Amino acid sequence: MAGTDNQENASVQASLEEVWYLKEISFRSTPHSAPRRFRVITQNFNGPCSFIAICNILILRGDIEIQPVERTSVSYEILAQLVGEYLLAASSGVDTSAALSIMPVTRKGMDLNPLFTGITSFRPAGEGGELKLFEHAGIQLMHGWLVDPSSPEHPVLLRVEDYDTAVNLIAEADHLSRGQLVTSEEYPSITTESNTPNAVLTPEEYQKVEDAILIRRFLDSTSSQLTYHGLFTLASSLEPGALVALFRNSHLSVLYKSTNPDDNALYTLVTDQVFMREPSVVWERLEDVDGGWSTFVDSDFVRSSPAGGDYAGETAESALAALEGDMGAMTLEERADHELARQLQSQENERAHELEAERQRETAEREQQERFAQMTREAKETREVQKKDRKTKKGEGGQSLGKHTYQDEILQETGGGEWFFVSHTDLRGILYTAAKTAGADIRTGCDVTAIDPMSRQVTLANGEIVTADIIVGADGPGGHGRETVAGHPDASTPAGITMYNATLPAKAVQEVDEIRGGPAETEVVQNAVYVWYGDGYCLYDYPMNPKGDHALHVYGPDDGQDGSWHDKPTVSLANLLGDVEPKLANFVQSASPAVRLRIRNYEELEDWIHEDSERMLIIGEAAHPFPPGSLQTFAMCLEDAAVLGKLFSHLKSEEQIPNFLWGFQDIRQERCKMAQEREVHRARLFTLKNGPEQEERDNVLRVLNNDEDADLGLYSLEEPRVLFAYDCEEQGEEWWQSWGLLRERSHQTRTKDGEVKVAMHVEVKAAHSS
Ligand SMILES: Cc1cc2nc3c(=O)[nH]c(=O)nc-3n(C[C@H](O)[C@H](O)[C@H](O)COP(=O)(O)OP(=O)(O)OC[C@H]3O[C@@H](n4cnc5c(N)ncnc54)[C@H](O)[C@@H]3O)c2cc1C
Repeated sequence: MAGTDNQENASVQASLEEVWYLKEISFRSTPHSAPRRFRVITQNFNGPCSFIAICNILILRGDIEIQPVERTSVSYEILAQLVGEYLLAASSGVDTSAALSIMPVTRKGMDLNPLFTGITSFRPAGEGGELKLFEHAGIQLMHGWLVDPSSPEHPVLLRVEDYDTAVNLIAEADHLSRGQLVTSEEYPSITTESNTPNAVLTPEEYQKVEDAILIRRFLDSTSSQLTYHGLFTLASSLEPGALVALFRNSHLSVLYKSTNPDDNALYTLVTDQVFMREPSVVWERLEDVDGGWSTFVDSDFVRSSPAGGDYAGETAESALAALEGDMGAMTLEERADHELARQLQSQENERAHELEAERQRETAEREQQERFAQMTREAKETREVQKKDRKTKKGEGGQSLGKHTYQDEILQETGGGEWFFVSHTDLRGILYTAAKTAGADIRTGCDVTAIDPMSRQVTLANGEIVTADIIVGADGPGGHGRETVAGHPDASTPAGITMYNATLPAKAVQEVDEIRGGPAETEVVQNAVYVWYGDGYCLYDYPMNPKGDHALHVYGPDDGQDGSWHDKPTVSLANLLGDVEPKLANFVQSASPAVRLRIRNYEELEDWIHEDSERMLIIGEAAHPFPPGSLQTFAMCLEDAAVLGKLFSHLKSEEQIPNFLWGFQDIRQERCKMAQEREVHRARLFTLKNGPEQEERDNVLRVLNNDEDADLGLYSLEEPRVLFAYDCEEQGEEWWQSWGLLRERSHQTRTKDGEVKVAMHVEVKAAHSS
């Protein structure tokens, strides 16, 4: 054999002494061919041999066959001859000497120097005979050691490209940082002050060390030479039925993509000799980057149930013995280290899985937004009559201003958002049951008289003191919670508008439907909101229960009196509105007496967390009060609860609490403010006095009905997208993935000002020299 040196001769010699056993499996060489029996090569515990992977691919493709069929084992010599003959026949007229000369080396691990940027990119040193071998054998060589494009290491690895260059850079940076980079267990941080007296690095050197730190971090976290980004890229790039050589852990294995349309998984051929007589273990599902979660399957890709369970061997007893043998050889300390390493790796895997799932969710979200844009365009074209309407009428003249619609299709496209009304009593019942079912201890009739966030104590009117780990103030805009967090008494001022809340009984609804005018308008549309505008006031009603009763809200000028939801309904709407359009006068006479709710302008709190204790949070209207009767109040309060629940589902220790509370604020503040501003603006639009602004509003409403291409501001179709295309729990989870985990691992705490405090780090004295 041409070109072999002493080392190669030694390895050939070693292989001569080695015997590899054959295992019969069933396999379809092409997706539509009948399954055939093949005898693949197994190997002993010396690690996966690249040469065997190459041979097994050729065997499974039917390109080589080990004869005679009675043979139960095979040597390197026989295989090398078979592969050599195949190469010569398959590449007739082509110089195969480089490929043939590399064959003995493939018995060991292969140094293929993969590029972190492409699954088929390799840059082996020297002549590149390795690549020739695969080329001539027609075997696709792949790897999954890809850098994630969204990771901080990506820009550096994009420049560095391959493994060898990356390692060289680390070595160089290690020299520059006086040995801190390779030997330190921590990732060194480098000071950037250019006037540091000990400055030793030029800006270029400094950049090198910074790059090397990122690279080392990447290499440390991908020691199996497979990343989740790589795994997903492989899975999405390979055609069903593809049989390729996978480079991983400096060795090769046979990688196969399932042809089953319901199973897009990747499988590697199991060649461990220990499974030689285990017919139910043929392939291993490639599910994670280190094999920790792997599943074995049989020739039909059905999950295995081998005699030895997860640690399958020839028999259950031998598997157990093997396991005990492995563990028994360890000291107690080694066992603990082993267990810790296993746990840490499993956490890493979990995170990587979650990150990949997150990336997929983001793609889905992007696609969803694109679909939404398409839907909106189509909706504009067809101008269908919509189900969910806001039917607007002008009070005085009684003429229709048109409809504002939430289209079913759009709501669904925005993530399955739903628009429905539920009575306050029913909603309380639903939430009460849900909380009880989840194990909450609910006490009623407990009036809180004082809150002490520092000692985490709440004093009740009966003198009882309740101590807690965290205090969550969900006691509305006028409760103690808001005051405690703000650090001063409520400073809200009247907004000049009052809302009156009444009920329109079902019987009256039928009558007023006629008042609304015309047969087309009499149809009682499920979930419709009917709006009437007058000079400085507005009425709207919507269904509130299955009986057909409607809630009726009237917005008008502030009459100087306060009120609350707890008050008895005493206000007569007929008296309040006085001399209005006759149809409307009939309408309000049918309504029950109303409760008065004065709309107030509340101070926008900078923080919802008690800064000194970091153990108290306010949520719901205590944090972000809405004008009474707003459409989005309940949704925002429920979202608060869901996000808080999501974050605290990751709670493992008390130290996490401040991060979770600040995280909650980061997630929720902006969205609530957006919804709140829309509602405040809407209340103002509701109560415009006759004049230019009112005319503009009415025109917008008319345009909405007739020209959907117009810029409709608050009334535009953007509203459902912003409000409904949002999954609050996903946002909570995303925060945990992007920030929560990161902060914990780097021992960081987010502070009030959004800064990040680092609890612990190792610093390397390296700085600019200029
Ligand atoms: C009785 C009532 C009826 C309502 N009806 C309607 C309606 O029909 N339509 C509508 O749009 N909105 C209604 N609302 C308003 C709506 O419920 C709130 O906007 C929404 O629920 C906000 O939720 P939240 O959890 O932030 O506060 P809320 O639901 O207001 O809950 C705050 C809770 O804290 C309690 N609380 C306050 N101070 C103390 C204290 N010192 N000690 C102990 N407990 C305290 C209150 O009793 C209340 O149960 C009503 C509110 C109330 C209180």
